[in-house]
Amino acid sequence: MNVKCIDSLGTQELAGKRVLVRVDFNVPLESGEIQSDQRMRAALPTLTYLLEHQAQIILMSHLGRPKGQFVDDLRLKPVGKHLEELLEQKVCVLSETVGDQVKATLKSEDARVFLLENTRFYPGETENDPAFAKALAELGDIYVNDAFGAAHRAHASTAGIADYLPSYAGLLMQREITALSKLLKSPDHPFVAVIGGAKVSSKLGVLENLLPAVDFLVIGGAMAFTFLAAQGQNIGQSLVEPELYETALSLLAAAKKSKTEIILPQDTVMAKSKDDDQIRSVVKLEIGDADINELSGVDIGPESIAMLRQKLAGVKTILWNGPMGVFENPCFAAGTEAVAEILAEATDQGAYSVVGGGDSVAAVEKLHFSKRFSHVSTGGGASLEFLEGKTLPGIAVLGA
Ligand code: ADP
Ligand code: MG
Repeated sequence: MNVKCIDSLGTQELAGKRVLVRVDFNVPLESGEIQSDQRMRAALPTLTYLLEHQAQIILMSHLGRPKGQFVDDLRLKPVGKHLEELLEQKVCVLSETVGDQVKATLKSEDARVFLLENTRFYPGETENDPAFAKALAELGDIYVNDAFGAAHRAHASTAGIADYLPSYAGLLMQREITALSKLLKSPDHPFVAVIGGAKVSSKLGVLENLLPAVDFLVIGGAMAFTFLAAQGQNIGQSLVEPELYETALSLLAAAKKSKTEIILPQDTVMAKSKDDDQIRSVVKLEIGDADINELSGVDIGPESIAMLRQKLAGVKTILWNGPMGVFENPCFAAGTEAVAEILAEATDQGAYSVVGGGDSVAAVEKLHFSKRFSHVSTGGGASLEFLEGKTLPGIAVLGA
């Protein structure tokens, strides 16, 4: 869908205006220390744009799940401190999100950037309460949503507020929409979707939506075992969702109809558990092996990797969502790393590639591969819902 973006506004429209910007500063925190500032950096182009055009910025974000109460450990103060370093200018951090005190501080403090307190300290945020949305809207003249990572939520600061103010997409929001839309509209072929991760259930919508569009659907991670078990393979103690066997079989049948090749692992790395400290066996799945009854599949094996390298040479469009194995454990990261390498190489050869999903993006970042993909999405759940073909509430309100 088309959205109005702040890049259509210049100094004339922005100078001296109070611009309320919803960002996704929901960063991983450990005892007050920010573990990754990726999401904050992703918002910088919008903030810089607004500052260059002489606007005043009032930032809104949630952090964690305080469930409608003030929780000291989830205050945005450390985020504001770090933002000061990133922007190289003063950020005034407020200890509340709405109300008279906030209004007074916005008037009295000499700063160009303000950060309101965690929006989820107020129950009205997740309830999308019009009164809370209005209280937020009263603080500014223009609303900008740059929080792609929260765009699948219809909350007061991501959706409701747009009822009260002229509303625009930020530059990150626009970049995400453009990058993901490219996969759904007229992708170049061959088009491959590589889908992994823990559960079929969480990826079902994406599988169903993309199946008719892609040439290859690679299924890895624990998800693959539901497909393999549904076809009668012995998969030992691997993670499966028996309630989805029927669904898996009907996806395989649908793929035949749409001439999509579903690629399942040919061999799998087995261990006693995902926390095991070594590989116990590598089994070829077509043979079946009685010795694996006590073991779980934790990664794709070397034959699967070799097959993917061969099959995916020359693909033109790539979506990658979900790791191939338990990559958090270094013993079982080889499959995910190899797939990252194969897809990055295809990108070097000119393919358009998108990585989405919190854990897949973490894997790509850990490998320092982010720059080798065309687009690394900042939204986990949001990118999934977008690729399911849903209209996200935080985007719908920005419609042109
Ligand atoms: P994303 O966040 O990229 O969408 P998911 O959340 O769907 O990915 O899945 C990521 C999780 O799946 C990781 O924690 C990983 O350890 C787990 N996983 C992948 N393969 C397996 C497997 N074979 N057995 C158990 N867990 C797995
Ligand atoms: Mg995940």
